[in-house]
Amino acid sequence: MKITRKDFLKILGGSAVAATAGTLARSAASAEPNAATSKAAEPKAAVKRWGMVIDTSKCRESGCDDCIRACRVAHNIPQIPNPKQEIKWIWKEPFENVFPMQQTDYTRQAFKTPLTVLCNHCADPGCVRVCPTKATWKREDDGIVMMDYHRCIGCRYCMAGCPYGSRSFNFVDPRPYVAEINPEYPTRTKGVVEKCNFCEERLAVGKQPACVEACRDKALVFGDLNDENSGIRQVLRERFAVQRKPELGFGPAVFYLL
Ligand code: SF4
Repeated sequence: MKITRKDFLKILGGSAVAATAGTLARSAASAEPNAATSKAAEPKAAVKRWGMVIDTSKCRESGCDDCIRACRVAHNIPQIPNPKQEIKWIWKEPFENVFPMQQTDYTRQAFKTPLTVLCNHCADPGCVRVCPTKATWKREDDGIVMMDYHRCIGCRYCMAGCPYGSRSFNFVDPRPYVAEINPEYPTRTKGVVEKCNFCEERLAVGKQPACVEACRDKALVFGDLNDENSGIRQVLRERFAVQRKPELGFGPAVFYLL
């Protein structure tokens, strides 16, 4: 039988498809057992989700700023006189800034003193989504949204991506504005962004966050939101709590008892 040029190309094409399919099948077969082995070899550890409840009535009654001062000492937070250059990890804000959609005549009268705010360590943080260098990221094993000051290039996209104003930029060298440098925590430099880290360095050695420890009225409750037996879950079971701007879908881990 005479084989034309057209027949020859058809045969060649069919062989190529068969060869490719064979190669793909072989690589899939060789990849599957490895994936199964690695899954079996690495059982997933129980995942925590650190969170905080702020009892605003207790805060209001005491009117102190012990939590802010404790955080300042623990993390070398500078006190820069120019308000436009202020560095804030935990601070106070008027009610209308914290809950802009919940303002009523009642709240205007009831919440004349400002509320305590900090980074919400969101479940789906906007800041992390927009960081081009991965200088900020969410730890999957406990939900803390971290900062690597060395990777931060100071683009401030994260500040634009955070709808809570939880991040500050070092417009100037902060070190001259730190009253007494705590050698146990790094100082930052001009040109980087910083924010609350839920005291991850203290949690690592079994301590509570500095703000929680300093609060004499127990207005701040910190714990594992994924543990139904934790103190924070007990508070959230017994009291009605709200988050800031839940409609944005970021999933804040900081709750407020109003
Ligand atoms: Fe990021 Fe802002 Fe959420 Fe903190 S509060 S995790 S800075 S989006």
